[in-house]
Order: sequence, then structure tokens, then C-alpha cells
Amino acid sequence: MPELPEVEITRLGLMPLINHKVSQVVIRNSSLRWPVNLALNSILKDMPLVGLQRRGKYIFASFPIGTLIIHLGMSGRLCIASKKSAVQKHDHVDIIFNGPENKILRYRDPRRFGSITWTEDDPYQHKLIMSLGPEPLDNEFSADYLYEKLRNKSVCIKNAIMNSHVVVGVGNIYASESLFQARVQPHRPAHKISKDEIKSIVDAIKDVIENAINKGGSTLNDFFDVDGKSGYFQNEHHVYARKGMPCYLCDHPILQITLGQRSSFYCKNCQK
Ligand SMILES: [Zn+2]
Repeated sequence: MPELPEVEITRLGLMPLINHKVSQVVIRNSSLRWPVNLALNSILKDMPLVGLQRRGKYIFASFPIGTLIIHLGMSGRLCIASKKSAVQKHDHVDIIFNGPENKILRYRDPRRFGSITWTEDDPYQHKLIMSLGPEPLDNEFSADYLYEKLRNKSVCIKNAIMNSHVVVGVGNIYASESLFQARVQPHRPAHKISKDEIKSIVDAIKDVIENAINKGGSTLNDFFDVDGKSGYFQNEHHVYARKGMPCYLCDHPILQITLGQRSSFYCKNCQK
């Protein structure tokens, strides 16, 4: 599943499309998580793409009269294709731009849990967006904020930080990795975590997400190529998917448990 760093790299990769005008929107399959607006071709024709923002795992592609709110779901990806790139089975939507290169913004999604939603209102006030928690890299996401937010919550800390109403963009991998870096076991109840530990968790989340974005940035060309790889930046997991393998810090085997139906990995020796 694309996580926040992948979505941010996708956003950066789309930047060359800014200021290009749409010549045509081709919808081959409108049955995404929610139906794609079939009038998009007439709505967007001749409209320039004027901005690309990200909020959580949503990309906002803005035009003078409105915004496409795009979510990649479980398996979605956006790439820049050219007229020469062959259309593949799961290429559901193409936004074709004018210009000498006829660049195409192509949405591919085998499982179709993603969405492309058109709004002419403020996208930040959209019902999908309004209730989202702060961005992990914003100052608003602080130890004070998280401590306040969790001090009455008995849910385990890993599920708490994966809740997008608490903070956006901390998916399964980044949650396990952040808690390892903060030395906190994933199944502890959120309200039993000390303020100092909360501070370590906040610092670790920022660090892990920022590193992933930086790593992804260095692979931007490969990542974004129409035939390039998608998905996680697989490098350097300390605990995630390392069940039974020795902890890099202490050699104890990494344990796997299930929390909220998701696999969680941790070192019992390093994490308290
Ligand atoms: Zn360890």
C-alpha cells in the first residue's frame, strides 16, 4: 500500500505537469472506490493544472475551477506516460495534456480501492479531508499534542499512531519502525506511555518519515517512470518483516504479533 512518503514522491514526480493544459480526459473504468465523475473530460478540457498539494495520503491536483482529490488506495499509482506508452489492463484514467510532449497523467490501480474525486469547493474542507489529524512533519504534531490526544485512550500505541485522526500517514511499516526507534513496545496501552516516551515517539515518526521521503527522492526517476517500481522504499527496515531475525542492536530475535489485524514487529529487549 502506498504510504505517505511514496505519495509525497509521487506528488513531486508530477510537478513537470504544472501549467500544462488538459486536452482530454479518458476514463476507461470509472468504478474506483467511488465512481469517477464522467463529466471530467468536459470539465477539465483546456484547463491548466495550477498546483499539486498533498494532505495525508491524498494528492490535490488543482485547476482554476476546482480540484481533483486523488487517493492511491491499496495498489494505485500515478505516472507520467507518453502517447507511445502502451495502455495496460489496469490503466483506468488518463489525463492527457497539451504540449509538444503530450504528457499523460495515468492512473493505474489493479485493486481499485483508490479514488479520484472532483470538487469545486475548498478541498481542505472536503469530508474526506476535514477530520484528518496533523501532518507528521508539521510543528502542530508535537509531544504536547500527542500526549493530550492519547492520555485517555486505552488502545495500543501502535494502533493509536496509525489512526489518521491522530496523525496522518503513519502506516504499518512506519509505525513498527518508529516504535523501534523510540524504544516503545507496540502493544502498550496509549494512556500508559510517559510524556518522555511520547516525545521519543513523535521524534521517531518525524525521523522515519523524513528519511523515507529523502530516500524516495533519490530514486524519484526510477520510482516515477511509467514502467518503474512502485510501493515501499524497501531499504533499511530495522524490525518490519524481520520476524526471527536478529535485532541489529542486540541480536535478540525480532518478534511478530498481530495488533488490529496488522502484523507488528518489535524487539522485546530494546523496546520497553
Ligand atoms: Zn534489540
